[in-house]
Amino acid sequence: MIVTLSTGAEVDAVRRELARLGLWVASVERSGRGDVHLVVAKSSAAVDRSIVEGLRGVASVSAPSPIHPLVDAQGPTVDVAGVLVGAGQTALIAGPCSVESEEQIARIAAAIAPFGVRFLRGGAFKPRTSPYAFQGHGRDALAWLRRAADSHGMRVVTEVLSEADVGAVTEHADLLQVGSRNMHNYALLKAVGRATKPVLLKRSMAATVEEWLLAGEYLLSHGAKGVLFCERGIRTFDDSTRNLIDLGAVALLTHVHRLPVVVDPSHATGRRDLIGPLAKAAVAAGAAAVMIEVHDDPGCAQSDGPQALLPAELGPIARAIAAQEAR
Ligand code: PEP
Ligand code: MN
Repeated sequence: MIVTLSTGAEVDAVRRELARLGLWVASVERSGRGDVHLVVAKSSAAVDRSIVEGLRGVASVSAPSPIHPLVDAQGPTVDVAGVLVGAGQTALIAGPCSVESEEQIARIAAAIAPFGVRFLRGGAFKPRTSPYAFQGHGRDALAWLRRAADSHGMRVVTEVLSEADVGAVTEHADLLQVGSRNMHNYALLKAVGRATKPVLLKRSMAATVEEWLLAGEYLLSHGAKGVLFCERGIRTFDDSTRNLIDLGAVALLTHVHRLPVVVDPSHATGRRDLIGPLAKAAVAAGAAAVMIEVHDDPGCAQSDGPQALLPAELGPIARAIAAQEAR
């Protein structure tokens, strides 16, 4: 919202009145003609425009054209093959970092299904930092993942690494994942959008919230049927955890932008002992879903073993999340 002041009005007096209403001023702009405009930040406070127009010192109020109109219009829920994410109960997304074999994904799916996991995850195409590290089993793994999920009534989420794989992933997955490293890959975002499926969009490890929302706008403007925004930790100066989980951004997207947010404490922390506490913190901040990596033999995992929980360790976390909702 842009608030233009009447001639002679005091910026600080109007700023105080706005703050009383729960609105704060992000910047003060002065036009060449001497008009003063207060740019008011988007807020969770629902304040009627006429109340602002009626404040002493305010000449007029206008709304700048939105930069991500489709994201703004999306709303807090996304339907993923009949599962409404963001409508109350926190959805649990779990599975191994990588799909390593048909037996491995079938075993893990069977072990985690009793904990109410709605989405089975697992990488078929893996974005690895080293070209010599395990790159995933590709198309074979997509079929293994689908079969394992179907055996337990779960939906499938898996990453699309390149434009060439969009067709194959769309055929097998209910929710297409765009990974952190690809959030800025606009050609991929367009191709994934054209698949007209719901998308789980990971925040780039160095993206501002605005860049993340604009990546969502790319997806929606090319046909995606809803975007779940996934916070997976950002890079900072501190390496005591793998990344820094930005719970402020989770609260901002949930409560101010009214968007569905998935929190991935596994990639955010890189260590299994912090996943439980941070999953609970994510739900408290408003997360619509939590994504957790699980492996039944973490010591031998092809990728991300140190952050994988054993299947049985998911039970207490699932119960804690359900208890939080019940309060
Ligand atoms: C993943 O979820 O498998 C993954 C590679 O995560 P990120 O893109 O967040 O690193
Ligand atoms: Mn991983």
